Amino acid sequence: MKTIKIKNFTQEFTIGKMVCVGRNYAEHAKELGNEVPAKPVIFLKPASVVIYSSDKIVQPSFGEDLHHEVELVLLIGKKVKDVNEKDAEDAIIGYGLGLDMTMRDVQKELSKKGDPWTISKCFDTSAVLSDFVLKKDYNLTLNEEISLSVNGTVKQKEVLNKMIFNPAQIVEYISSLMTLEDGDLIFTGTPKGVSKVVSGDTITAELSGIAKLDCSIA
Ligand code: MG
Repeated sequence: MKTIKIKNFTQEFTIGKMVCVGRNYAEHAKELGNEVPAKPVIFLKPASVVIYSSDKIVQPSFGEDLHHEVELVLLIGKKVKDVNEKDAEDAIIGYGLGLDMTMRDVQKELSKKGDPWTISKCFDTSAVLSDFVLKKDYNLTLNEEISLSVNGTVKQKEVLNKMIFNPAQIVEYISSLMTLEDGDLIFTGTPKGVSKVVSGDTITAELSGIAKLDCSIA
């Protein structure tokens, strides 16, 4: 079982499901040649793929283009289904930083055929998580900046208010599709600047002083 570690808080959360939003920043949708969606694009990752800051990402053998996607991650603190935006906001108990590692060439082939993205998104080590902060200790304004560097060069850097769907809207929408439970995580999408990483590269990422992570490619 994989868990979430929270700053200044002894309770650990066991990670349930991880629901991920695709194309939640207009500029990122454009860079991959996709339309800006009318509703959030949703996919899942299993908790078993999670690794943590300072761990190593292992590129699977079935593809060539391993891409980084840095994302704000929401921690759900209670069971909700079919909630309105306010109750959706209340269901978010904390925030962290995550990498949604993606085999881009594999994803493109799957998309062409209309197949699910699973193989490109769910390989072991494809989700890297920082420590989390509780909302009661840090209230997100969406003026925070999310950024990622590869070998010290900034690749992704964006203010969270560039998200098409904000955290409460995302939770409201997902709760209309499936029950969310405490310990579930929601990856909220990545800004523009995704790029390929290879063995030996180091990745550092930060959410404006709230969360940091670093890892390398094995
Ligand atoms: Mg993503």
